[in-house]
Amino acid sequence: MPPRDRPVENAARRAPARGEAPEVSKKLFIKTYGCQMNVYDSLRMADVLAPLGYRSAATPEEADLVVLNTCHIREKASEKVFSELGRLRQLKAARAENGGRMMIAVAGCVAQAEGEEILRRAPQVDLVFGPQTYHRLAALVTEAARSEAGVIDTSFPSESKFDHLPEEARPQGAAAYLSVQEGCDKFCTFCIVPYTRGAEDSRPAAAVLAEARRLVASGAREITLLGQNVNAYHGEGPGGATWGLGRLLFALAEIEGLARLRYTTSHPRDMDDELIAAHRDLAQLMPYLHLPVQSGSDKVLAAMNRRHGAEAYLRLVARLRAARPDLALSSDFIVGFPGESDQDFAATLRLVTEVGYAQAYSFKYSPRPGTPAAEAPDQVPEAVKAERLAMLQGLLAEQQIAFNQGCVGRELEVLFEAEGRREGQLLGRSPFMQAVHVAAPARLKGRLLPVRIECAHPNSLAGRLAGSLDEPGAGPLASVMEVAS
Ligand code: SAM
Ligand code: SF4
Repeated sequence: MPPRDRPVENAARRAPARGEAPEVSKKLFIKTYGCQMNVYDSLRMADVLAPLGYRSAATPEEADLVVLNTCHIREKASEKVFSELGRLRQLKAARAENGGRMMIAVAGCVAQAEGEEILRRAPQVDLVFGPQTYHRLAALVTEAARSEAGVIDTSFPSESKFDHLPEEARPQGAAAYLSVQEGCDKFCTFCIVPYTRGAEDSRPAAAVLAEARRLVASGAREITLLGQNVNAYHGEGPGGATWGLGRLLFALAEIEGLARLRYTTSHPRDMDDELIAAHRDLAQLMPYLHLPVQSGSDKVLAAMNRRHGAEAYLRLVARLRAARPDLALSSDFIVGFPGESDQDFAATLRLVTEVGYAQAYSFKYSPRPGTPAAEAPDQVPEAVKAERLAMLQGLLAEQQIAFNQGCVGRELEVLFEAEGRREGQLLGRSPFMQAVHVAAPARLKGRLLPVRIECAHPNSLAGRLAGSLDEPGAGPLASVMEVAS
């Protein structure tokens, strides 16, 4: 699940009512690495800490508590965390010299995988906690504040954190995330997720629907359902029935005011008939699907334990496109998986040519300690990985540019999510997930409006407003958390 380059917001502090004792206000800064699930988790951590008086800080310099919500998917992602901890050590020391205290916490998948090792390498850290224990965060922070040594909680509790989280403390804005499923039982041989996030678990449909209604009531027009393997969703439905993701999408589509639905990340093996029917029947389900294939070689796919071949993936793509002809596809690719030959890599290029992606994410294979592929004897040299990655990315970039250029002259509905980099510009998303820049007043933030696309860039589109502006808008987004890639 790729990172989304969008800052997420925290609520403004509510002023105490007359006669009410003011809360003790402390400042919280959360830096989020990795995927959208981490972005969602960071928002929920802020919700858990709000009753302790924690409010958002714009920078780590101002914060009483800094949380690094980390990603362990590739080595580079984990190493970034340790270099950030080096910078934070200096901030913490400077604060202590001035008689103050800054606490540092490491959360997420690096915390889960490295545990004690983090405190050994970075003794400035006060608290280490995994992705399944942040519902206990208030107690953990209190304990860490009193403790001389660092506190660790990387257990996999029997209770689901979702049953113990408070309701969301503040709106996410026009485009919101909602976690419906966590963990993974697939054990792809390259992947650390089943070890860091634990076993697959789905939230009950009623809890998902209730959270979606609250998000819509607070201004969301689009909801992206999240899960490590979101289409493996099998939540408890009414009357003890089990709902798949397709059934859940049909129910969500009935929520008034919810204009757009998306979901990510999917596994090709879990794309069932009801989910394909949702793509055919639901106008709210956006015509964009991230469906990672990883490789086009059957030999590599088998060694990865993906449990499908290239032909099966192509047949699935054909079924999806028959159901939703304008569906734009995206994927993840790994190059240089152990044993990948030139022929295997050529098969990946052929598959990419055959599918034609609107965008995609591609990575050099990164051995993750404890995963089977890391032990494989036939590791591919770094230079070969780099060469293959450059070739694959060249092809994917050509396809993305072609897709973007195909949008020029079309009128696309754009949901305006944030202010653009330039003055007087808003940034939104097309139905196909493209970033779209439009000259428009800030008051249109949160609105879904038709835009005439005039210009295509490799990673974005630009256009001008094409319709009337009399649709009611949603509240503004403020950015106070940082999302790192
Ligand atoms: N569940 C999704 C699936 O099955 O496709 C993928 C989720 S994974 C968190 C996101 C992406 O990271 C994967 O699709 C894969 O391309 C990439 N990835 C995971 N482990 C990797 C590794 N060891 N080296 C390089 N890329 C990796
Ligand atoms: Fe990782 Fe495979 Fe599970 Fe995706 S399906 S999260 S790649 S183990």
